[in-house]
Amino acid sequence: MWAPLLSALQDLPTETRIFCSVLLFSWTVYLWETFLAQRQRRVYQATTHVPQELGQIMDSETFEKSRLYQLDKSTFSFWSGLYSETEGTLILLLGGIPFLWRVSGRLCARAGFGAEYEITQSLLFLLLATLFSAVSALPWSLYNTFVIEEKHGFNQQTLGFFVKDAIKKFVVTQCILLPVTSLLLHIIKIGGDYFFIYAWLFTLAVSLVLVTIYADYIAPLFDKFIPLPEGELKDEIEIMAKSIDFPLTKVYVVEGSKRSSHSNAYFYGFFKNKRIVLFDTLLEGYSMLASDQREASRSEPRPGAEEGDGTEVKPKVQSKKQGCRNEEVLAVLGHELGHWKLGHTVKNIIISQVNSFLCFFLFAALIGRRELFAAFGFYDSQPTLIGLMIIFQFIFSPYNELLSFGLTVLSRRFEFQADAFAKELGKAKDLYSALIKLNQDNLGFPVSDWIFSMWHYSHPPLLERLQALKDTKQD
Ligand SMILES: [Zn+2]
Repeated sequence: MWAPLLSALQDLPTETRIFCSVLLFSWTVYLWETFLAQRQRRVYQATTHVPQELGQIMDSETFEKSRLYQLDKSTFSFWSGLYSETEGTLILLLGGIPFLWRVSGRLCARAGFGAEYEITQSLLFLLLATLFSAVSALPWSLYNTFVIEEKHGFNQQTLGFFVKDAIKKFVVTQCILLPVTSLLLHIIKIGGDYFFIYAWLFTLAVSLVLVTIYADYIAPLFDKFIPLPEGELKDEIEIMAKSIDFPLTKVYVVEGSKRSSHSNAYFYGFFKNKRIVLFDTLLEGYSMLASDQREASRSEPRPGAEEGDGTEVKPKVQSKKQGCRNEEVLAVLGHELGHWKLGHTVKNIIISQVNSFLCFFLFAALIGRRELFAAFGFYDSQPTLIGLMIIFQFIFSPYNELLSFGLTVLSRRFEFQADAFAKELGKAKDLYSALIKLNQDNLGFPVSDWIFSMWHYSHPPLLERLQALKDTKQD
């Protein structure tokens, strides 16, 4: 199908060829993903009854709820995907990037900037571009939260909370993005022949700093973290951590239910200072416990609570009991700590750093090519920021697609290994039931198209994980 298009490309000038290839590739990926999504959609439509092998896992009511939820989500992502692909194409075709660059330049000139002109212009450009993309994504995000998630009982946010949250997120992002970009542009400018090494070291340092401060200083800006109260669960977590030499220093509960009632758990921290975070939605009956604390702390009305005297937690949450028993929470944590013990975290960091070095190296080889700039409407100037954008986002996109597919495959392997680790801790049975509960609480749909799941799923499908737990359970 693409053959005549490709041969037509041969006869065009280099910059037109580059531009057309980028567009062509972007649409190829878009069509491929739409095709996969349609296949998956057909699975939702066709599987109207709980398949036999799932009889013990899901009751038909939950199954139907999940099916309708996934169908709504699939419709939503069809339209939002079409919108963003069309928007991106129009921006490229109509010269949106050079236009925004000129606007930034004019604004800078009017403000009287001189010496550091290009960097100032770059920062202004970046600010305007991120503002534009945030604004254009806003209606979609609003619809997703207040129509789809709301309809299926997941949304816990009020409009006020949502708006405040979005503004906070934008401001915090800019506070990091703008200084980091300006330093990076400086480094590229003054770095000489080996600038790509310094640029890579700089981004490495930035990511280490961010990982270090994120949990303590950034995440608490958005969510409330409470130390897990003393008790059986905390003791058992500490015993398990000790048994596998996990240097646990603190266990927190985060109010995940403030945003949505999807549930999760994770750990973070360097070397000997590791913390575990549990979403309150993971814990059975945690809401009572949390409301006591909330009452004691302050009477800020809980988002979503209609009249906030701060004493009652929104009773809506679910008519059904949500969350896991202590043993199940421990099994989920056993899985999470397996990721640590088996070195998955370190492996992921190494992969991403090798990749980032490689990208900067290639960037150094390509940044001098005027035709790359010309392809995107920059005929007589080659601003570094624009070069970063063109090369990292557009030129590398085939590579990025392959890499992300490879990482998805790897992630599924890691998930199986972490499950097997939890099984070795003797938690196969509890993990088995926890996975079923979490899938139900999150209204996950247990049947999937094989290509769709191969391409997208960072976690193996539920049935495969359960099967693997069963297999290992026996021997
Ligand atoms: Zn995992």
